[in-house]
Amino acid sequence: MKTVNVLGATGSVGTSTLDLVEREPEAFRVRALTANCDVAGLAAAAIRTNAELAVVADEACLPPLRDALAGTGIATAGGAQAVCDAAANGADWTMGAIVGCAGLRPTLAAIEQGGTVVLANKEPLVSAGAIITAAAARYGATLLPADSEHNAIFQCLDLSQVERVRRIILTASGGPFRDWSLDAMATVTPTQAVAHPNWSMGAKISVDSATMMNKGLELIEAAALFPIPAERIEIVIHRQSVIHSLVDYVDGSMLAQLGPSDMRVPIAHCLAWPERMATPMAPLDLVRIGRLDFEAPDETRFRSLALARAAVDAGGARPAILNAANEIAVAAFLKGAIGFLEIAAIVDDTLQRYDPAAPETLDAVLHVDAEARRLAGERVKDCVA
Ligand code: NAD
Ligand code: MG
Repeated sequence: MKTVNVLGATGSVGTSTLDLVEREPEAFRVRALTANCDVAGLAAAAIRTNAELAVVADEACLPPLRDALAGTGIATAGGAQAVCDAAANGADWTMGAIVGCAGLRPTLAAIEQGGTVVLANKEPLVSAGAIITAAAARYGATLLPADSEHNAIFQCLDLSQVERVRRIILTASGGPFRDWSLDAMATVTPTQAVAHPNWSMGAKISVDSATMMNKGLELIEAAALFPIPAERIEIVIHRQSVIHSLVDYVDGSMLAQLGPSDMRVPIAHCLAWPERMATPMAPLDLVRIGRLDFEAPDETRFRSLALARAAVDAGGARPAILNAANEIAVAAFLKGAIGFLEIAAIVDDTLQRYDPAAPETLDAVLHVDAEARRLAGERVKDCVA
């Protein structure tokens, strides 16, 4: 029996995680579930899974959560610190599925308990990868990657042979606008951007997939998670999203992980690891898929890729600035305040205007993150004005 926390339990990854957990009640016991302010979703999930504790990050949402869970025996709490406290309850297995850098402190709180911490939430790894991996080593926590590409690499990478790895290849669907001209992309609406052709995901990551910043963030995430330098991590467009990533060894063997485009596959791998568990999806039908296509990404139409590559090469504060500015720009785009192509422009502008020293501590990272958000926010206002 594993005790389980799900941080970001009401989102796309959180819901997929609970779907698997609920199928095996004798294998998993739910301790804490957290959300930002989706009281109805959180209360329903807590009741269904018989959780011990439900936490909303937004304190204003605590009174309705208390009402929704009155008489159930499920404890409630509210506020950002309460999310961290819940993450520090010593559960065996924690899913980090909060969106954005808001997940950084809760992720670290879970790591400090020394259990297994599963990272779907990629933004903290981009902004503070070295701090997260150092904390895992220090506290004896096991980090497992749930992001499908990184989970694929984790499954294919023989760590005893990293000297013999030629390249890691991250596959990218290319998103809904992979065949669009720049002129056409200038007119993209939020509704169009969140409709991903292959994956069903939260709004922020869907926009990131459409700009391909998601693949840029994943490049930085891979360099943080695996002992392979970024210059040996390549990106290839693979529109079917059947191969989730590959490892290329010096002898010419390339190992790939294939699977349905359903996050329950990599999540199940992390839930059962080092064993395996069944998932409800139909097995891949290779004959029906018929063909697998690959093409080079276009960094002219998808500027985010070049910005992320430059940020990981330069290191220091650059990835944290890239991520923070992108979070602000994506939120502004989703609100209709800026155009689709302005997302990458704002990230680029923020990187040009702000070049602090490398942040060595968590507080320093959080300072860079806050300052980059402020600068990106100014640019958003300029766009609106
Ligand atoms: P989502 O928007 O569907 O869900 C986000 C969750 O985080 C919700 O439970 C929400 O209540 C909570 N949350 C939001 N803001 C918060 C805050 N300030 N404090 C605490 N909790 C907060 O997002 P998602 O698509 O599930 O993605 C979650 C993370 O996983 C992201 O970092 C994303 O990049 C990554 N990821 C997602 C997928 C996918 O298929 N959805 C795949 C790979 C990686
Ligand atoms: Mg991914």
